[in-house]
Order: sequence, then C-alpha cells, then structure tokens
Amino acid sequence: MRILVIEDERKVASFIKRGLEEERYLVDTAADGELGLSMATAGGYDAIVLDVMLPKMDGFEVLSRLRTAGHATPVLMLTARGTTEDRVQGLDLGADDYLAKPFHFEELAARLRSILRRTTTEKTTKLSCGPLTLDLVSHFAYRDDQEIELTTKEYALLEYLMRNKERVLSRSLIMQHVWKHNFDPESNIIDVYIKRLRQKIEHPDRPQLVQSIRGVGYRMREPDADSALSNGVDDPNNGDVR
Ligand code: CA
Repeated sequence: MRILVIEDERKVASFIKRGLEEERYLVDTAADGELGLSMATAGGYDAIVLDVMLPKMDGFEVLSRLRTAGHATPVLMLTARGTTEDRVQGLDLGADDYLAKPFHFEELAARLRSILRRTTTEKTTKLSCGPLTLDLVSHFAYRDDQEIELTTKEYALLEYLMRNKERVLSRSLIMQHVWKHNFDPESNIIDVYIKRLRQKIEHPDRPQLVQSIRGVGYRMREPDADSALSNGVDDPNNGDVR
C-alpha cells in the first residue's frame, strides 16, 4: 500500500513516515500543497494523509481540486484541535476522515486502516494464493499457517503480486508500483527480490506460486489453476540472478 503524506512540519511528516513504514506501507511526503496535489493527481496512492495548514496551497484547496479532478483516493485530514469548522469543511469537501493534532500515531494508523478498508473494492483484510496468506492489517505473511518474515520491500512486492494474482506483470509495472522508479533494463533488482521472495514463500516439493514469464516478468498463480493456461513459460533455473 502506498501512502502520500502532505505535511509541511518536517518533524510531524517524518514521525508519520517512520511509523507507517514500520507498518509496511510505502510512504512519500510532500512539504507543500502544490507539490502534494501534483503527486496526488499523478495517482498510484492508496491513501493520502493531508494537513490543513500548508504553504502554497492549503489542505482544503488540495482536497477540493483533487476531488474536482475526479480522484477518489481516500483522504485523512489533519486538523487543529477544537476547530469544528475545519472538520466540517474537510468532510464536506470529500475527506474520508479527520484527526485533530496532536495525535497518537496508533490512532492515525487505525483511522488509515479503517478508510483503506472502507474504500478497497475487495473489502478484504487478507489476500491468499494457495497455501499463502497475506494479512493486510498485521502485515504478516503465512505459508500453511507458518509465519514468514519479510522485509518492507519483499512485503510490498508480494502484496503487489497477490493483488494481481493470475495477471502477468511486466518488470516495468513491478518497478513502478513497488520501487516507484522507471524500469532500467540493465538492472536485475526485481529478479534478485523475486529470488529472495521465492526462497521464503515457495516449497521445493510443491507447485511454484510465482512464475517467471520469459522476456516479460512474473505472475502469481493459484497452484491448482489449469496448467494448460500457461504458455510453457516456467523458468527452469528458478530465477537465478545473472
Ligand atoms: Ca502544517
């Protein structure tokens, strides 16, 4: 899950970013309203944490322009304590929830989870693929109920693959969604991470969950999916890094 934090107070922004990263979110920050709006409209975020008082363009203006442009990305607004008008204005403009400053990080995380749950089309808190389960709330992965330890990037990669189960994902799509960079054909970073992920999630004697699609990228498959649908593209060397 990718979160955009639009907040000009550096201490608050880095406090939120650190906390959310510990919860396995991928976090970008913007320190003014204009930059925040352009990042938000570029898309790709699952939720936005938006401060009201911002330089260049205030949070209400950012929210209003975002909604006017047709973006439905859930927004959690940060308001000053006790300003009912702020809360009402924010909600009227299409904020999904608000939180008064100062706040405890746990409350921000809980409200964010709640708006993400409300707005995710799947309305699910768990993803699964064969023996593999990913808990989107606790951020734990399990294979046959055995917990698997994942780094933040491994988690983000696995989540992206599982959300797009049965779909062939090109390396450049994976790069954009998980690394937020443009794909560099010289780099084998995706293959390296896929290999690490496979070492953690695959079982040597069981059908492979992450398939290599030669010349394209990868696909996550249900192990019992009809093998006739695959175009004989299993990678025999199991994704060795060159
Ligand atoms: Ca501020």
